[in-house]
Amino acid sequence: MSILETDGSRLLAAVAVLLDRKGLVSDEAIRERIALTDAAEPAQGARMVARAWTDPDFRAAMLADGTQAAESLGIMMRGMPPLGVLENTAAVHHLVVCTLCSCYPRAVLGYPPFWYKSASFRARAVRNPRELLASEWKTIVPASVKLRVVDSTADYRWMVLPLRPAGTDGWDEARLAAIVREGDMIGVTCPVAA
Ligand code: FE
Repeated sequence: MSILETDGSRLLAAVAVLLDRKGLVSDEAIRERIALTDAAEPAQGARMVARAWTDPDFRAAMLADGTQAAESLGIMMRGMPPLGVLENTAAVHHLVVCTLCSCYPRAVLGYPPFWYKSASFRARAVRNPRELLASEWKTIVPASVKLRVVDSTADYRWMVLPLRPAGTDGWDEARLAAIVREGDMIGVTCPVAA
């Protein structure tokens, strides 16, 4: 046993061998999924947001089925939990959290930021989301706007379709995608025209 080999890594390797032998998940499929997740980045989600802002048909399709919409833009969703898309409007703002652990829309945003996994974020997002957003991100959700906190789970992943910011009329998709940040798609921040 090498110095780097932990109980966890040995258990993981053993489970992978069992899944492969039983024909449930091949070693190759696991490697493929890991490579896809390693390569995933928020720019993929930003591309979906920019398309939704400029194409009403895509926006409707994305709200109806996030998985299919992502696949239509060439984002590989096979083997991932379904993706749901929550639309922010003038009346409602969404905040995504995994209260249990760190479930995140990895296929479209990549690995979650460290704060997303913290006990502090998970607890405060539920107890007092307005205070959390204001103090940690300077995001002020007015009292007139409903704040919906949505739990991401192992069975269903959520991303936010943020409001298109003022001052972006006539911008093309690439320019719009460039201003969409990771936090905008989780609901901790809102896009601003850069
Ligand atoms: Fe989780």
